[in-house]
Amino acid sequence: MILEATKPGLDESMEREFNPWLSAEARFDEAADRLGLDEGLRKILGAPALEVTVHIPVQLDDGRLEVFTGYRVQHSIARGPAKGGIRFAPDVTLDEVRALASWMTWKCAVVNIPFGGGKGGVICDPAVLSQGELERITRRYTAELMDFIGPERDVPAPDMNTNEQTMAWIMDTYSMHKRATMNAIVTGKPLNLGGSRGRVEATGRGCLFVTLQALKKLHLEPSKTKVVVQGFGNVGGKAAKLMHRSGMKIICVIEYDGAVFNPNGIDPEALQRHRAETGSITGYPEAEDIDKQEALFLDCDVLVPAAKENVIHSRNADRIRTRIICEGANGPCTAPADKILAEKGVFVIPDILANAGGVTVSYFEWVQDRQGYFWNEQLVNGRLEEIMVDAFRDVVKFAEAHQVNNRTAAYMLALDRVAFAIKLRGIYA
Ligand code: NAD
Repeated sequence: MILEATKPGLDESMEREFNPWLSAEARFDEAADRLGLDEGLRKILGAPALEVTVHIPVQLDDGRLEVFTGYRVQHSIARGPAKGGIRFAPDVTLDEVRALASWMTWKCAVVNIPFGGGKGGVICDPAVLSQGELERITRRYTAELMDFIGPERDVPAPDMNTNEQTMAWIMDTYSMHKRATMNAIVTGKPLNLGGSRGRVEATGRGCLFVTLQALKKLHLEPSKTKVVVQGFGNVGGKAAKLMHRSGMKIICVIEYDGAVFNPNGIDPEALQRHRAETGSITGYPEAEDIDKQEALFLDCDVLVPAAKENVIHSRNADRIRTRIICEGANGPCTAPADKILAEKGVFVIPDILANAGGVTVSYFEWVQDRQGYFWNEQLVNGRLEEIMVDAFRDVVKFAEAHQVNNRTAAYMLALDRVAFAIKLRGIYA
């Protein structure tokens, strides 16, 4: 087992529970056991296919030279090029990048798009770096990875603290080295550089599609559905807006600096305007400010944790009072929390399914770039719906057939698809 120190400030048992690699491993092991996956395949899938560490020298604005450490991990390329974001953060660890890369393998397999899993990260603090410094870090990091990335090898995307501009720099650097404009090297690009319509809302829209399926399955009506959303950013903000538009009642929104509650429903677009004017969701006149720690435990039908990982864990899972959890964020529930939630009968739509709308539209972006032919938003959203609904059906069918919870079913389905690809390809010696 590959393991390195995780983030500080936690007692030992919680440190293990919150360790992303151990957590990914726990889910993998359970699914592999249930599938009866053979020892050889376990070994292949239990470790990343490729890990690259680069130490990149960059000149800072004041003339000093600094060396930054960056990673790119390809967990699997069995079903297609590796796919996954690049994050810039001061506390990025190789463990985290490995775990996120494996997550991407399973996520792409669950929605059945022809990608493997990858992830990258650079240890740096974007809060203290200028645009020029960020550009130089991005370009040098890309240059160091030239032999590993490519439209048919490994296709990066934005993640924490990286954005469309970062992707434009990667695309340009890669294209300059290749002496040709190659926009399929990254996804999440600006629209006029080959980005896809519908990408910005894709993850939130995917959450909506699977939540609607879950409501149907549990015979709940959208108009009678009370929703709590944690994290009012790209995923949570868009999911809240789209759920509200489809008739659900957003009774609470939780942010890092507070939570707002209205049992009759909150209009997320009005709340967004309030935040744009005041800098915070709190103090919104159409709702009451409530304690953000307690807000997670409100009585509701759908809880959308869309902020960060490990928010529902062994020490608070028994207090959750919802019928459905739609995991907008990656890893919001820990493995021990899964067991508690299953005992309580909570219907969990696991992250690798619930938030796969983003990577699905990234796949559409890559397809459009390679075709050189761009789709309208209606086509993008329609194809996204088709893929999300099919994936939801496949996962639920697997869960029922094998008598397991949805997360284990999603992992089993994904593992089965990846293992099948490896078996078909065989081992090159
Ligand atoms: P974001 O930065 O746009 O939004 C996150 C929001 O959560 C921010 O508004 C932030 O203030 C808030 N937040 C942070 N800590 C919080 C806390 N403790 N309590 C309440 N709110 C808190 O990020 P995002 O792109 O929406 O991503 C959110 C999660 O979804 C991450 O786990 C990310 O990996 C995952 N995800 C994102 C995408 C995507 O397409 N953006 C796709 C798949 C998964």
